[in-house]
Amino acid sequence: MNRLRLIPALLLAVLLTTSSLSVQAQTVPRIERVNPTNWWVGMKYRTIQLLVYGPNAGTLAYTVNYPGVTLTKTHTVENPNYAFLDLTIAPTAKAGMVKLVGKKGSQTLTQPFELKARDKAPKGQGVTDADFIYLAMPDRFANGDPSNDRFDDMADQTADRSNPFARHGGDLQGAQQRLDYLKDLGVTAVWFTPVIENNQPMTNEGGAMRSAYHGYGFTDQYNVDRRLGGNDAYKAFVQRAHSKGMKVVQDAVYNHVGINHWFVKDLPMKSWLHQWPAYTNTSYRYESITDPHGSEADRRITTDGWFVPFLPDLNQTNPYVANFLIQHALWTVETFGVDAWRIDTYLYNDMPFMNRCNKALMDEYPRIHIFGESFVNNVVDQAYYVQNTINFPFKSNQPGALDFVLFGAAVDALKPKEANGANRFYTAFAQDAVYVDPTKLVTFLDNHDTDRYLSVIGEDVDRYKIGLTWLLTTRGIPCLYYGTEILMKNFRDPSDAEVRRDFPGGFPGDKENKFEAAGRTDRENDAWQFVRKLATYRRDTPVMHHGKLMQFLPQDNVYVFFRYDADKTVMVVSNLGEKAIKVDTKRFAERMSGMKSARNVLTDQTITNLDLIEAPAKTALVLELAR
Ligand code: CA
Repeated sequence: MNRLRLIPALLLAVLLTTSSLSVQAQTVPRIERVNPTNWWVGMKYRTIQLLVYGPNAGTLAYTVNYPGVTLTKTHTVENPNYAFLDLTIAPTAKAGMVKLVGKKGSQTLTQPFELKARDKAPKGQGVTDADFIYLAMPDRFANGDPSNDRFDDMADQTADRSNPFARHGGDLQGAQQRLDYLKDLGVTAVWFTPVIENNQPMTNEGGAMRSAYHGYGFTDQYNVDRRLGGNDAYKAFVQRAHSKGMKVVQDAVYNHVGINHWFVKDLPMKSWLHQWPAYTNTSYRYESITDPHGSEADRRITTDGWFVPFLPDLNQTNPYVANFLIQHALWTVETFGVDAWRIDTYLYNDMPFMNRCNKALMDEYPRIHIFGESFVNNVVDQAYYVQNTINFPFKSNQPGALDFVLFGAAVDALKPKEANGANRFYTAFAQDAVYVDPTKLVTFLDNHDTDRYLSVIGEDVDRYKIGLTWLLTTRGIPCLYYGTEILMKNFRDPSDAEVRRDFPGGFPGDKENKFEAAGRTDRENDAWQFVRKLATYRRDTPVMHHGKLMQFLPQDNVYVFFRYDADKTVMVVSNLGEKAIKVDTKRFAERMSGMKSARNVLTDQTITNLDLIEAPAKTALVLELAR
């Protein structure tokens, strides 16, 4: 989630109180929701807290009579429409339908709550540096079911591809139909921007009315958005991806929800959200969090201020909120089988909560990978939010992160007329000692919140190939933003929508179909084949993911690094300059001693003189060395 252009602060007095305190005293109790919607037997996480919601649901006296299930405590809170029930599920409990019985006077309500048996389907498999992630925005990727583009009973009635700010109708079925396309490209994991229901009205951002097509304003965690196909379509997508040996990354948002979220309209208690005497936006100044000389006042505004006025900020120090979010995370992995967890606006969350949530996921699914978005520009701030070697007073347990530092370096390094770009890139890796394991960082050249990479580098396909070569040969878990492989371009100016255009061929009636070679220009096919060649080489060549990285100081804007293990050495030579250079390799003897020849991985040509390597202008060579 990127910061958006803000409208003047809204007065959100409606949020400041729970609406039901006085008006519903006479209402007969009813239960409308229970979250989580079910649980399982045999989970490590077996003490759960049910959120029970409905008119006066908090005025009932609850009992449970089910073998192995104990109701240890019922919590009532400020709003009588909520009860929070602590249930402990014994390891011996059997799958079945638990009855929650609520009594008030002569009235008895019975609410079923299912304890399922866990299925054997793969889940929480993780993504590693052997993977290649593809980030797609489902609304903008492919529309496989035009019948779900809009629903009469949802807050936003627009489905209009001519409006860049409206929903366009893409969905999970459309994406599922493109899995073979992605697999052919060498992709091994798919990350969608959030799929959870965003039943938000259009909101005014930067003077234009916009749909929540990006997905970052949840309105009901337990439903995948119907316009994407709902829970069944997501389940089907994950199953199909798994059957093709591909993984799925879920985009999680803990920091905030949409202003149209059902619980925001009737808050359980005032402290459910971060509330301020007057609307307070986050300062976005992340330095205040890591600054050893910083003030609590500044930190609070950064983390407890709202991201934007229509995304209420959740208070994760409230234990009911924390339980709700953690249980939803576990429920999601168990229900859909997702393999990894990308966490939105990571640095704006409460960090002890994040550690607790990460731990619950990693305890239950030991292979799962977690990588948060902390949109920072320096190594210290990036390291703070991931397992690190710095003596910070707070220690994060997050295994990975999106590598925004490397992103900044790669983009700067390849800008037109940058004379010293190689050093920028080199320096980013030179600081890897701050991370416990830098190979768990997710590397990228652009995303849905940034200018598209091709535009940043002046639409120069030679530089494009250098950047992609770096992405696909260096350390970390590479991630490609949809459309980069077909040379989609654009700056964020005048709006994010420019970098979130529809994938041509993904929508009924499209004149061009760039999912197929025949629909692409020669230039696009050249780029596509380039990505495919390197992605499949990386996938099939273990040294390219688990091999060590050794880099040498750039000279004359030529940057050389190696990936190596006991069996294999791959040399990457990047000449960022405008003229060809013969690279004298004497100073690389540590990695090249005894090497007699090399195979150029991109051209299959053999090089027999390794003393002087010809590096053409604006080119990266990937050379597999042989003794
Ligand atoms: Ca659709």
